[in-house]
Amino acid sequence: MIYLKTKEEVELLRENNLLVSATLAEVGKHVKPGVTTLELDRIAEEFIRSNGAVPGFLGYNGFPNTLCISVNEQIVHGIPSAKLVLKEGDIVSVDCGTFMKGFYGDSAYTFKVGEVAPNVSELLRVTKEALHKGVEQAKVGNRIGDIANAVQEHAESYGFSVVRELVGHGLGHKMHEEPEVPNYGAKGRGPLLKEGMVLCIEPMINMGSRAVVFEKDGWTVRTRDRKPAAHFEYAVAVTKNGPDVLTDFSIIEQAIKN
Ligand code: MG
Ligand code: MG
Repeated sequence: MIYLKTKEEVELLRENNLLVSATLAEVGKHVKPGVTTLELDRIAEEFIRSNGAVPGFLGYNGFPNTLCISVNEQIVHGIPSAKLVLKEGDIVSVDCGTFMKGFYGDSAYTFKVGEVAPNVSELLRVTKEALHKGVEQAKVGNRIGDIANAVQEHAESYGFSVVRELVGHGLGHKMHEEPEVPNYGAKGRGPLLKEGMVLCIEPMINMGSRAVVFEKDGWTVRTRDRKPAAHFEYAVAVTKNGPDVLTDFSIIEQAIKN
């Protein structure tokens, strides 16, 4: 069932997602050639704990770390590693979760490592735009399919492809609640959006084909053609005044500019 949140509960979800945003900003300051993804994970864990929360992903279904860090052809659920050293031109999706006051936070940002190729830069821009197109549809009276279709139309209009095997979700007392929020589909289909729903909208967009491979580590999902993929994620509350984005990318973007 879809659990509708009270205004007070939405504020607790906002607190969590603002902490996730601040954690991603902290991580973003350290995204540079030469850093390992395990170092980024340690920075995030320390930051989350020092702010009175616990990492939401650590131990979730047995996941071993605080962050999911996915580089280049890795789409999502990459495991931080001391052997994975970032280099100039890479892109790195950092997905972060927190748990405090009975609720979860869950948001993701794809960072550039130094200068990236123009077509990779375009993939990032279009994926973030697709997220925003989806968010615009997160209003009372619309359906999940309106969000899904807006994301898909935007990504595909640039010749990129949409991952089907993984989807967004409701967020609350649990990390993954109903409804599922796909990044593809038909307008006007799926569950009706109601005030109090909190949704994670998270387009996973591939530069090449949409085919994916689930790696033998049990977690990492990558593109089959090994072309890059991008991933951005917002937690959004559906309110009678329209979508209320609980994640704040502006603090992340400020941090990486400095
Ligand atoms: Mg996430
Ligand atoms: Mg999520």
